[in-house]
Amino acid sequence: MTVLVLGDQLTRRAGPLVARPDERVLMIEARAFATRHAYHPHKRTLVASAMRHFRDALRDDGRDVAYHETETFGGGLDAHFDARPGDALVVMRPSSHGAADRLRDLVTARGGTLTVVENETFCCSPADFDDWHEGGTLRHEDFYRHMRRETGVLMDGDDPVGGEWNYDESNRETPPEDYEPPDVPTFDPDATTRAVQDDYADANAESWADPAPFGWPVTREGALAALDDFVARRLPDFGPYEDAMVAGEPTLDHALLSAPLNLGLLGPREVVDAAVEAYEARGDVPIESVEGFVRQVLGWREFVRHAYRVGMPDLADANRLDATRDLPPVYWDGDTDMACVAEAVAGVRRRGYAHHIQRLMVLSNFALLYGVDPHALNRWFHVAFVDGYHWVSTPNTVEMGQYAGDLFATKPYAASANYLDRMGDYCAGCAYDPDATTGADACPFNALYWDFLAENEDDLRSNHRMGLVYSHLDDKRDAGDLAAIRERAGEVRAAVSASDPSRTE
Ligand code: SF4
Repeated sequence: MTVLVLGDQLTRRAGPLVARPDERVLMIEARAFATRHAYHPHKRTLVASAMRHFRDALRDDGRDVAYHETETFGGGLDAHFDARPGDALVVMRPSSHGAADRLRDLVTARGGTLTVVENETFCCSPADFDDWHEGGTLRHEDFYRHMRRETGVLMDGDDPVGGEWNYDESNRETPPEDYEPPDVPTFDPDATTRAVQDDYADANAESWADPAPFGWPVTREGALAALDDFVARRLPDFGPYEDAMVAGEPTLDHALLSAPLNLGLLGPREVVDAAVEAYEARGDVPIESVEGFVRQVLGWREFVRHAYRVGMPDLADANRLDATRDLPPVYWDGDTDMACVAEAVAGVRRRGYAHHIQRLMVLSNFALLYGVDPHALNRWFHVAFVDGYHWVSTPNTVEMGQYAGDLFATKPYAASANYLDRMGDYCAGCAYDPDATTGADACPFNALYWDFLAENEDDLRSNHRMGLVYSHLDDKRDAGDLAAIRERAGEVRAAVSASDPSRTE
């Protein structure tokens, strides 16, 4: 028997590594996985370096680890079964849809057997989720309250701590002009990480993104240090400014823990417990900060994992609004006068990261208004973000951001410059006028917003949550303004799509 550890299951605190402490371990670093798409160089470095550090940590624990660096995953299995014919493997269930079956086929074809056990890197098991769901409506708020009750996190008996389940209304403040958020810690590459960078230098040489400087945590110790830093320095202001956007501040008070969480270097329950302990022990963490953080990790992260599970494979092809336009080159090169888009893409190019409101209300919103094929955008989020995996990018992008599925989104997250100007300060330094809809200097979001509503009127007008915006569209139509607005939208699309596409995937 051998424990197979996949690249996003790097935990020594759960799963068959704990249940079978004396079994040997197999890890496979398949180069083709890392190079078959235009992955961000930081993502290649992060995953491979974290895997190699995890291997070393297991060996330091005295475990017998076979680590194969091969071109393909099948090549790694070949090497394993050449050495141990007929071996039985056990693995935690992979997160991607269909991956367990593909893995079993690969193992069986080589004369081995594969046992797939529960993936313990999440808080809520499939059985628990399915018991709660029972085929009913997928509603995050209901699931979140269920998780709070089940776990006892932020509970006072049967009641939520503070009296409210959700302090979302207190998560929408904008910081004062002189606000300076704490720096986020960076983790300089050590010898192992530098070796990974050398190994992937060829693949990264032509990248659309910046290979260096790399600063993500790649070890358990680094991930814990990142958690400690967030809880100590940024958690207090995380809640009030969770939905804010500030020019020149790509991280604000966000946790930046999704990358180590999605690799298994941190467990969701321990990061939740760390935040709650700080709330209970200190006087400087407001309820809207700890609750907002718990909602993201214990609620939303678990919810999308299971929404993906129950929504696949249909979600992979969903396209409710029939959006078919190519992803514009600006998503790769950031070459635009739109300050909000330029800054968000610059952050992605620099470190494979943008904070959640940039992702939803700038990058995803612009693609929605522009009419990008949701699956092209999903591929981009998958390859460009250090924390992007199919299980997390698909529900967040296809279902929520692009309103392409019918799982849980109740309306499109479509917004004009009015929202962006209210929640951030990008517009003040932008070449475009956030208050204008037509004309050469009008904010592109504005004409695209009204054009999006007109283009998708048959699908959206009957949505009761869209009644108010369609009454505004009627006003524009009645005033005779809509034709000019739609002409401006066409000009915007032509300009945005005209950049050099040779730098794309
Ligand atoms: Fe973005 Fe428009 Fe504001 Fe410029 S004016 S920052 S393009 S929302």
